[in-house]
Amino acid sequence: MTYNSKIYINQIEVGLMQNYSYLVGCQETRQCGLIDPAWEPDRLLKAMEKDGMELHSILLTHTHFDHMEGLEGIFRLAGPRKIYVHEAEAECIAQFKEHIVTIQDGTELSIGNLSIQTIHTPGHLPGCVCYQVGQHLFTGDMLFVNSVGRSDFPESNQQDFARSLKKLKEMDDNFKVYPGHDYGPAPTSTIGEQKKSNPYLMVDNL
Ligand SMILES: [Zn+2]
Repeated sequence: MTYNSKIYINQIEVGLMQNYSYLVGCQETRQCGLIDPAWEPDRLLKAMEKDGMELHSILLTHTHFDHMEGLEGIFRLAGPRKIYVHEAEAECIAQFKEHIVTIQDGTELSIGNLSIQTIHTPGHLPGCVCYQVGQHLFTGDMLFVNSVGRSDFPESNQQDFARSLKKLKEMDDNFKVYPGHDYGPAPTSTIGEQKKSNPYLMVDNL
């Protein structure tokens, strides 16, 4: 875990649905991934530029429109980049086919000298993933601070959702949680804190 000291993270709230987009990059090479280009692509690119980072790729936690409304704008303003998306949802963004790189549970991505692990957490949608960089965990619409994402969409699966929650609950208490929406009392949390304050993680039979 030598990369912890090199990691750059910028959490940016965008749009009218309290979405978070994340810039996650390598301080040494200045290469940066954009997790969920939710809204306001111009603002996201400006933040990157201001911090001296260069856009390497797009990482999607899932393909709901509110997490990628800014994708076309990013391509228009910055030029196309690779889009990492779980294989179960690649067809949902078929219009970007030539740029898609499909990922699965355990896929390791590299951005500069950073290593990013893919954790498949289906339930909200079949291709939901969390991205783990060192002790930082980007949870999309799976886990919010003190709540969780919806599991009542036609594509949702409640058994998968429970299994995915269990997976997160078993992670290191020190892992920092970066949710896909600003729905909680604080912008971030940790797995340890969530086990004490998130009713969905406090359930014993998980
Ligand atoms: Zn969603």
